Amino acid sequence: MKKAQVLEEEYFTTSWCFERRVLKVKVLCGIIKDLFPLYLDGVCSNDSKAAIEEHIAVCDSCKADLQTMKKPLPIDVTAQNLSEAQTVKNLSKRWKKGMVKSLLKGVLFTILAIAVLALFLYIFVDVQSF
Ligand SMILES: [Zn+2]
Repeated sequence: MKKAQVLEEEYFTTSWCFERRVLKVKVLCGIIKDLFPLYLDGVCSNDSKAAIEEHIAVCDSCKADLQTMKKPLPIDVTAQNLSEAQTVKNLSKRWKKGMVKSLLKGVLFTILAIAVLALFLYIFVDVQSF
Protein backbone atom coordinates (compact mmCIF):
# COMPACT_ATOMS: atom_id res chain seq x y z
CA MET A 1 0.00 0.00 0.00
CA LYS A 2 2.68 2.43 1.02
CA LYS A 3 4.77 1.61 -1.98
CA ALA A 4 1.84 2.23 -4.33
CA GLN A 5 1.07 5.54 -2.64
CA VAL A 6 4.66 6.68 -3.04
CA LEU A 7 4.60 5.62 -6.67
CA GLU A 8 1.34 7.49 -7.27
CA GLU A 9 2.76 10.60 -5.59
CA GLU A 10 5.87 10.33 -7.72
CA TYR A 11 3.75 9.96 -10.82
CA PHE A 12 1.78 13.10 -10.05
CA THR A 13 4.89 15.05 -9.26
CA THR A 14 6.55 13.89 -12.44
CA SER A 15 3.48 14.51 -14.56
CA TRP A 16 2.98 17.99 -13.06
CA CYS A 17 6.61 18.87 -13.64
CA PHE A 18 6.43 17.51 -17.15
CA GLU A 19 3.33 19.58 -17.94
CA ARG A 20 4.93 22.68 -16.45
CA ARG A 21 7.99 22.05 -18.58
CA VAL A 22 5.86 21.47 -21.69
CA LEU A 23 3.94 24.67 -20.95
CA LYS A 24 7.15 26.63 -20.40
CA VAL A 25 8.68 25.25 -23.59
CA LYS A 26 5.53 26.01 -25.64
CA VAL A 27 5.30 29.56 -24.34
CA LEU A 28 8.93 30.15 -25.15
CA CYS A 29 8.92 28.60 -28.65
CA GLY A 30 7.53 31.71 -30.33
CA ILE A 31 9.94 33.99 -28.53
CA ILE A 32 12.86 31.69 -29.20
CA LYS A 33 12.00 31.43 -32.91
CA ASP A 34 11.84 35.23 -33.10
CA LEU A 35 15.39 35.35 -31.79
CA PHE A 36 16.79 32.81 -34.29
CA PRO A 37 17.85 35.39 -36.92
CA LEU A 38 19.72 37.41 -34.30
CA TYR A 39 21.23 34.23 -32.89
CA LEU A 40 22.39 33.03 -36.30
CA ASP A 41 23.88 36.45 -37.11
CA GLY A 42 25.62 36.41 -33.72
CA VAL A 43 24.21 39.76 -32.68
CA CYS A 44 21.90 38.73 -29.79
CA SER A 45 22.83 39.27 -26.16
CA ASN A 46 24.57 36.58 -24.15
CA ASP A 47 21.35 36.10 -22.13
CA SER A 48 19.33 35.51 -25.31
CA LYS A 49 22.00 33.17 -26.63
CA ALA A 50 21.95 31.18 -23.38
CA ALA A 51 18.12 31.08 -23.39
CA ILE A 52 18.08 29.82 -26.98
CA GLU A 53 20.69 27.14 -26.34
CA GLU A 54 18.90 26.07 -23.16
CA HIS A 55 15.61 25.91 -25.05
CA ILE A 56 16.82 23.95 -28.07
CA ALA A 57 18.39 21.42 -25.73
CA VAL A 58 14.85 20.42 -24.64
CA CYS A 59 12.70 21.42 -27.62
CA ASP A 60 13.12 19.25 -30.72
CA SER A 61 10.77 21.38 -32.81
CA CYS A 62 12.81 24.56 -32.32
CA LYS A 63 16.04 22.63 -32.73
CA ALA A 64 14.81 21.34 -36.11
CA ASP A 65 13.72 24.86 -37.13
CA LEU A 66 17.12 26.24 -36.20
CA GLN A 67 18.86 23.50 -38.21
CA THR A 68 16.67 24.38 -41.20
CA MET A 69 17.53 28.06 -40.88
CA LYS A 70 21.25 27.23 -40.67
CA LYS A 71 21.17 25.42 -44.02
CA PRO A 72 22.34 27.55 -46.95
CA LEU A 73 19.83 28.23 -49.70
CA PRO A 74 19.76 25.45 -52.30
CA ILE A 75 21.74 26.33 -55.44
CA ASP A 76 18.79 25.85 -57.78
CA VAL A 77 16.88 28.59 -55.93
CA THR A 78 19.78 30.96 -56.51
CA ALA A 79 19.98 29.89 -60.14
CA GLN A 80 16.24 30.42 -60.46
CA ASN A 81 16.57 33.92 -58.96
CA LEU A 82 19.37 34.74 -61.41
CA SER A 83 17.29 33.45 -64.31
CA GLU A 84 14.33 35.57 -63.16
CA ALA A 85 16.60 38.59 -62.85
CA GLN A 86 17.81 37.98 -66.42
CA THR A 87 14.20 37.77 -67.59
CA VAL A 88 13.42 41.10 -65.93
CA LYS A 89 16.54 42.63 -67.53
CA ASN A 90 15.46 41.37 -70.98
CA LEU A 91 11.97 42.73 -70.39
CA SER A 92 13.44 46.06 -69.37
CA LYS A 93 15.60 46.15 -72.54
CA ARG A 94 12.57 45.36 -74.70
CA TRP A 95 10.58 48.03 -72.91
CA LYS A 96 13.34 50.60 -73.48
CA LYS A 97 13.53 49.61 -77.17
CA GLY A 98 9.75 49.96 -77.35
CA MET A 99 10.00 53.44 -75.81
CA VAL A 100 12.58 54.51 -78.42
CA LYS A 101 10.39 53.07 -81.20
CA SER A 102 7.37 54.94 -79.84
CA LEU A 103 9.37 58.16 -79.62
CA LEU A 104 10.58 57.79 -83.22
CA LYS A 105 7.03 57.00 -84.38
CA GLY A 106 5.78 60.10 -82.57
CA VAL A 107 8.44 62.33 -84.12
CA LEU A 108 7.84 60.83 -87.60
CA PHE A 109 4.06 61.26 -87.28
CA THR A 110 4.48 64.88 -86.13
CA ILE A 111 6.81 65.67 -89.08
CA LEU A 112 4.37 63.99 -91.47
CA ALA A 113 1.43 65.93 -89.99
CA ILE A 114 3.34 69.23 -90.32
CA ALA A 115 4.31 68.35 -93.91
CA VAL A 116 0.68 67.52 -94.80
CA LEU A 117 -0.50 70.77 -93.17
CA ALA A 118 2.18 72.76 -95.00
CA LEU A 119 1.21 71.09 -98.30
CA PHE A 120 -2.48 71.83 -97.59
CA LEU A 121 -1.67 75.47 -96.86
CA TYR A 122 0.53 75.70 -99.97
CA ILE A 123 -2.12 74.23 -102.28
CA PHE A 124 -5.41 75.65 -100.90
CA VAL A 125 -4.40 78.83 -99.16
CA ASP A 126 -2.56 81.49 -100.98
CA VAL A 127 0.19 82.29 -98.58
CA GLN A 128 1.71 84.80 -100.98
CA SER A 129 -1.33 87.08 -100.74
CA PHE A 130 -0.72 87.90 -97.05
ZN1 LIG B 1 10.60 25.42 -28.82
